[in-house]
Amino acid sequence: MAHNAAIPAVAFRLDAGQCVGCAVCADACPERALVMGSSELRPVWIAARCTNCGICEAECPTAAIRLAFSGLRRATARS
Ligand code: SF4
Ligand code: SF4
Repeated sequence: MAHNAAIPAVAFRLDAGQCVGCAVCADACPERALVMGSSELRPVWIAARCTNCGICEAECPTAAIRLAFSGLRRATARS
């Protein structure tokens, strides 16, 4: 099981100038770790849900997302 396993920590970087608010990233995220902001149509990243799968970065049509790995963190235990 993945409980308490060390997984890479990741930083989510958004280039707001590149983002067109299409929500492709939020729709593609399997963990619902990206939600579209209500006032600005930009994705808001929820770090605790992110499993660093890289799908958002790969799917963004404008290359507005960059994931940067920065060590290890503990995975969140799930029921
Ligand atoms: S997929 Fe890219 S352009 Fe579309 S909302 Fe997400 S970050 Fe912005
Ligand atoms: S790396 Fe994966 S889990 Fe994390 S926000 Fe992107 S699509 Fe979601």
